[in-house]
Amino acid sequence: MSFILDKAYNQILKIDKSLPKKEKVQMAKKIVNSNIDDWMLMINPKITEKSRRQKIKPESCLSIKDNYKVIRSTDIAVEFYDENNNKHKEKYNWSAARLIQHEIDHLKGILISNKGKKLY
Ligand SMILES: [Zn+2]
Repeated sequence: MSFILDKAYNQILKIDKSLPKKEKVQMAKKIVNSNIDDWMLMINPKITEKSRRQKIKPESCLSIKDNYKVIRSTDIAVEFYDENNNKHKEKYNWSAARLIQHEIDHLKGILISNKGKKLY
């Protein structure tokens, strides 16, 4: 495990212990994207708004080998907690919005192969 993920993992364990029992840490994702911070931790992320405007774009995933065209909202609002247990409400658009929707789908067990169209 890389140092940065190791650090994130330790933070999660710490947060997990400090949260009420019914709360569960659902997500520790390394998100690499030029539109948002180099990496960020979103704990219990929840998409609270999705734009009606959607775009179909090719996506790849480290969990599967094929690429898929996936339709997603271009703008979203997300609520999540950071590693210091502070609540955030942020808006994202375009590639950041796509990436976050992709990652949150993972938390629900949804892969691009479940919702997209395979690219040949
Ligand atoms: Zn993925």
